[in-house]
Amino acid sequence: MQAHRALVFHVAWQEPQLAWLLAEFRLIVNESIRAALKEEIRSRVRLARAAYADLSARHFIHKKYISSAFEVALSILKAHRRRLRKRKKSSVPYMRRLMLRADNQSYWLDRDEGRIRIPIRGTEGVQLQLPLSNWHRSILSDPSWELGSLTVVPGSIIVVVRQEAPLPYEPRSAIALDTNEDSLDGVIAGRDSPALLTIPLDGVRNVQATHFRRRRKLAQRKARDRRVARRLLRREGRRERNRVRQRLHNVSKSLIEFAQADHSAIVLEDLTLHGAGGRSRKMNRRLSSWPRGLIHHLIEYKAALAGVPVIKVNPAWTSKTCPVCGARRRDRVGKDFVCLMCDWEMDRQINAGMNILKTALASNEALARAVRFQPGALRDDVVSPLYDLLREGGGAREEPSGAESQAEAVTSPGL
Ligand SMILES: [Zn+2]
Repeated sequence: MQAHRALVFHVAWQEPQLAWLLAEFRLIVNESIRAALKEEIRSRVRLARAAYADLSARHFIHKKYISSAFEVALSILKAHRRRLRKRKKSSVPYMRRLMLRADNQSYWLDRDEGRIRIPIRGTEGVQLQLPLSNWHRSILSDPSWELGSLTVVPGSIIVVVRQEAPLPYEPRSAIALDTNEDSLDGVIAGRDSPALLTIPLDGVRNVQATHFRRRRKLAQRKARDRRVARRLLRREGRRERNRVRQRLHNVSKSLIEFAQADHSAIVLEDLTLHGAGGRSRKMNRRLSSWPRGLIHHLIEYKAALAGVPVIKVNPAWTSKTCPVCGARRRDRVGKDFVCLMCDWEMDRQINAGMNILKTALASNEALARAVRFQPGALRDDVVSPLYDLLREGGGAREEPSGAESQAEAVTSPGL
């Protein structure tokens, strides 16, 4: 698997050749979309066969850009077809914004100095100076990050760097988490001391609520001046995103460090699947808000770089099943899940985390070999915040050496 990272540089470039190139590229993308639509083309090879000769005869630009344009066109078409399949409204797609996408063979970048050369056509090219921050320098000076694609839009230049992620280790324990509005909740099992676990998202819900109120107030106060209102609202939105993002970065970082020190796999719901009858529509809307997707994205991304395995499971019924006897409730579940068949009772969110783990154990052999999980043993346990477990030394514990500790984890009593 490959890990990607986008380095964004704000450059107010003015070069007319570059502006011309972006306009040409947009034209080629839109012509490719039309060509692909006309002949029902979905692959780049077929699109190249159908349109390359014609486009390269009429557009005198660096030839490599034409195949990049095919890729952009096909991805726009893919989104269009998906909308049609879901019977949503979608008019014939058209790329409006100015942009250029180029693969790593097309441009040249001096990784120490930040000088970039973007070819236009023939031997003609544009040189720009990228403003390198310390963070940019730290990545560009690390040769394990390879240069990937380049995107140029008015005002910014984006360089993607990529790295071959290490193979994930064999898990010795599992951290299974249900994703909620303001926390991740679940259980850690397979280690010597299984525990109920909650990871607060550091007040993300409050941040969002505060910004929601402020935006509404702003919109009222500046209702007479749309232009000012729009600018202020945009700024509010940006601040909110930054504050939330910052918190989620920290949370995901601690989780990964904890998992890595314990050789745990992280088990999450697959958010692209819908839980069957689990949550109300209103709840679904609230949960589908972007921090939920973002925290998963950050966890998966950091996990890949750290070699921490991540397992995604279908969330169907996770919030309505008894992890002890397997009975399901078809009615609404309150703050606590109470089983009608046995005497199991557990916080609803933690309960969902336990079911997520059980689902993973049922489908993942490697995990099932390493982790024994008996929810009943945790019946009366208190829920520990991740930070407490980290302080106990879970995260800072010394790396046990390979095989013996794995055997120990498998056979440790009480699991
Ligand atoms: Zn039960």
